[in-house]
Amino acid sequence: MKKALTQKFCQNIVGQFRFDEPVYVTRPNMPSLEKYNKYLENIWNSAWLTNNGPYHREFEAKLAAFLGVEHLNLFVNGTIALLVALQALRINSGEVITTPFTFPASTHVLHWNRIQPVFCDIDPKTYNIDPNQIEKHITPDTKAILGVHVYGNPCDVEAIQKIADRHGLHVIYDAAHAFGVKIGDRSILEYGDISAMSFHATKLFTSIEGGALISKTKAQAERIYFLKNFGIADEEIVIGPGINGKMNEFQAAFGLLELELVEQEILNRKALTQLYRSLLADVPGITVMEDIPNVTHNYSYFPILVDPQEFGFSRDGLHSILRDCNIVTRKYFYPLCSSYSCYSAYPSSDLKNLPCANRAANKVLCLPIYGKLNTENIERITDIIRSIHRLGRS
Ligand SMILES: *Cc1c(COP(=O)(O)O)cnc(C)c1O
Repeated sequence: MKKALTQKFCQNIVGQFRFDEPVYVTRPNMPSLEKYNKYLENIWNSAWLTNNGPYHREFEAKLAAFLGVEHLNLFVNGTIALLVALQALRINSGEVITTPFTFPASTHVLHWNRIQPVFCDIDPKTYNIDPNQIEKHITPDTKAILGVHVYGNPCDVEAIQKIADRHGLHVIYDAAHAFGVKIGDRSILEYGDISAMSFHATKLFTSIEGGALISKTKAQAERIYFLKNFGIADEEIVIGPGINGKMNEFQAAFGLLELELVEQEILNRKALTQLYRSLLADVPGITVMEDIPNVTHNYSYFPILVDPQEFGFSRDGLHSILRDCNIVTRKYFYPLCSSYSCYSAYPSSDLKNLPCANRAANKVLCLPIYGKLNTENIERITDIIRSIHRLGRS
């Protein structure tokens, strides 16, 4: 009886609020086609399509300056960048301690380098690898710590570095979410040995597909350059087993135009984040993330935690009703990487080892956020969430 009633009320909500066009969880901030056409014309006329062309060089330099880093290598995508980061540090055996609460690529790159991922629980506040849980996973085979700045929230970089220094481990950061994030005046990309970025179309900053590695020294950046270009040093010398990780001119040109737009995009997302936070503040069972003191955030995602008892519906229930309203949300990150069949047999994949990650994975939902999503959209989305809560309580 209650179920039938719930369904009926649900239909009322959908009838009242449904969006005619889907509202996606994100959309790329498209540059002007006219401007991109100019770049295309130049690429056509020069017939230089890839291999460190003029737009590649310009984008690499401007991006490094924009991010406030010295040594930056562009890549065709973020996954190949991460794969090469491990090769650059000669980490290709043993174990790496990492987080299960991330996108599949963060773990897959370990597997592709013949490294066993060792999953460590997360901090329930930041959703990032919990430094207090790292040391118990260290063995004689441990080579590195791979942290992910999830949603652009910085990992506890100081604590992680102390542990790494104490045990002689490398630190790599997957900074795919962390474009433009700073701690104080310092770019988040400066921490650890190497940071990897992604400029995939779904990210805050995009070059269609794309990525970058930020490293500490000129020598490291040179090694990375060889590794992403087949290990070719010159016409007759191949110095090692490299791969093809090169970004092409079309991506670089797109990235150059996106650089002109990204500051405004972050400001727009910040305003929308603040609106979401204020409109959801009084909805029982919905928890939003707050800014962290001394951190410049990029507002790339808007995750909420859904408490089923207080809210009245589970995360999955909310996800599916929003879907019926034509609002596409994402369960980033469910399931945990440790739950994939390829990794679930590792001892560290036992959920008893990962209570906080498991809780987050079962409660988290990322709501739509992108610069062109206007305030009326946010008001309507939060009205729907509020109505769903009332329905759940009735
Ligand atoms: C998107 C993403 C990647 C992969 O980047 P691609 O550019 O799509 O290869 C890696 N890690 C995280 C956390 C991501 O969100």
